[in-house]
Amino acid sequence: MEALIPVINKLQDVFNTVGADIIQLPQIVVVGTQSSGKSSVLESLVGRDLLPRGTGVVTRRPLILQLVHVSPEDGRKGAGDENDPATWKNPRHLAKEVDAAEWGKFLHTKNKIYTDFDEIRQEIENETERISGNNKGISPEPIHLKIFSANVVNLTLVDLPGMTKVPVGDQPKDIELQIRELILQFISNPNSIILAVTAANTDMATSEALKIAREVDPDGRRTLAVITKLDLMDAGTDAMDVLMGRVIPVKLGIIGVVNRSQLDINNKKSVADSIRDEYGFLQKKYPSLANRNGTKYLARTLNRLLMHHIRDCLPELKTRINVLAAQYQSLLNSYGEPVEDKSATLLQLITKFATEYCNTIEGTAKYIETSELCGGARICYIFHETFGRTLESVDPLGGLNTIDILTAIRNATGPRPALFVPEVSFELLVKRQIKRLEEPSLRCVELVHEEMQRIIQHCSNYSTQELLRFPKLHDAIVEVVTCLLRRRLPVTNEMVHNLVAIELAYINTKHPDFADACGLMNNNIEEQRRNRLARELPSAVARDKPVPVARKLSAREQRDCEVIERLIKSYFLIVRKNIQDSVPKAVMHFLVNHVKDTLQSELVGQLYKSLLLDDLLTESEDMAQRRKEAADMLKALQRASQIIAEIRETHLW
Ligand code: GDP
Ligand code: MG
Repeated sequence: MEALIPVINKLQDVFNTVGADIIQLPQIVVVGTQSSGKSSVLESLVGRDLLPRGTGVVTRRPLILQLVHVSPEDGRKGAGDENDPATWKNPRHLAKEVDAAEWGKFLHTKNKIYTDFDEIRQEIENETERISGNNKGISPEPIHLKIFSANVVNLTLVDLPGMTKVPVGDQPKDIELQIRELILQFISNPNSIILAVTAANTDMATSEALKIAREVDPDGRRTLAVITKLDLMDAGTDAMDVLMGRVIPVKLGIIGVVNRSQLDINNKKSVADSIRDEYGFLQKKYPSLANRNGTKYLARTLNRLLMHHIRDCLPELKTRINVLAAQYQSLLNSYGEPVEDKSATLLQLITKFATEYCNTIEGTAKYIETSELCGGARICYIFHETFGRTLESVDPLGGLNTIDILTAIRNATGPRPALFVPEVSFELLVKRQIKRLEEPSLRCVELVHEEMQRIIQHCSNYSTQELLRFPKLHDAIVEVVTCLLRRRLPVTNEMVHNLVAIELAYINTKHPDFADACGLMNNNIEEQRRNRLARELPSAVARDKPVPVARKLSAREQRDCEVIERLIKSYFLIVRKNIQDSVPKAVMHFLVNHVKDTLQSELVGQLYKSLLLDDLLTESEDMAQRRKEAADMLKALQRASQIIAEIRETHLW
């Protein structure tokens, strides 16, 4: 079962590297009042002098201490766990140079190996001062230390500042509260085992350590009581009742220990000596309880508790890791792959954009807009609704009044009075009306052009999201398509202009639809002619008189006007129908289809150049960084997941 612990340590490393506090791994946290012996307990568990201890506030930052068991041989060779992530790496060659049985490493000093434990203690003090100053201040930011040794079992321990009541030195008034918060922050982690330290020479019934532990662990499922300073009890008293759980029962157990006194520390008494003396002391004073107390027993108990705890946490841990991994995976996917083959990527992006552009026009795009018409549907709307309606609203006789018609008729007859309504005047007037179709037709081209421009934005926003990774490529594509569209505009306008010009070029009075209309009128015209012959020819209008602006029309003039109006109307409707039909076709052919057909080759021709590759595929600044972070995190998560899977497979509980 002990094989489980290195696995958990590995997991913890994985997350340390990623710099995330995402997964709460089981760890052992020491709580207690100031100078109750917390650091001393941890130290004897480590088996080496390495923690700053003493009277007063000594521990002022949380210390996360990871103990890693190495076999004695490995220790001499300096082997560490080779799988350590880079920052905590313990490369064999480094440790070889060290040639030590025990060594420590700090997260904040990276690869530096400490074999001198005095130096480790010094570094803890320095690092404490670096953040919390030298005014007895407290900082919640932990120091990470890892100890490799043959003399430890695998444990992760957290040393915390002791609970205090009265501020000393420059400590703030609310120091009691600050420390409480800090302690709670660590022990409220349900994945922590609480080591509630109480000195034997204080009253266990009022133990602050057990009190605060109970706040977060009311059922006592993860609280272990440690009674220190068994040697300092008043003469005539003993801790039998306390150790037997008769004063306060503690579910997981109450373990008494004897640490080194301040004098021992001053005399540099070794831990080994201390443990031997402790054993002697227990055998003498508490023979019946000796095998269930002492530092060694404490270490074993902790190891067992930790493993049970880990076992209980595994399923949930696994789920969490998997959920997180899935989240990071999709995050990573959204960032796209880092570009390896630039040329292929460029071509792929260009093609994808071109395809999406065409699809949006065809209506086969992946992302169909639901809030408004777009792409091909909008073009259809422009043709049939906007343009069609506009044309239909053009009045065939708009802008013409009777006087205009009359004047045109008279001008067309020249000096001689006409017998019939002159055809020239009809042509003249109908052309004038046909010309009025040009403006809305050109407007139709403009609208479609605008829509085609809008599709560019639509494609880069919704469909080709990868494009947003490469802002330069995005801009270049927009530029090329915009240019292409702009180039097609005059050609299309020209065609539309010509369509109207073609209509103007030849007024086909033999058009079958028009002939029908004429047929209806011919009877009238014949009748008019007869009437006119019968009457005296009207005298010519005197040339010096201005053309009359408004007067009562004679019956004949009235009729002539009506005839012309009817002809104009009839012919105009024919032309309007033509234009309504041919302009959309022209726009489709000269603008829409042309762009659709040439877009891909245009983009490739202008952008797919080796000289441009690097520039176009420059990612937006933070993308590479973000992707790397997500990838690292994902790797860490996958490794964690794999480790857990291994545990669950190989260890039958
Ligand atoms: P902390 O403030 O809880 O971390 O306590 P320390 O570990 O710094 O210990 C405070 C003082 O009590 C130090 O001088 C230790 O030497 C002393 N001390 C701790 N445990 C024992 C013990 O079991 N017996 C004796 N005699 N002294 C102890
Ligand atoms: Mg301490």
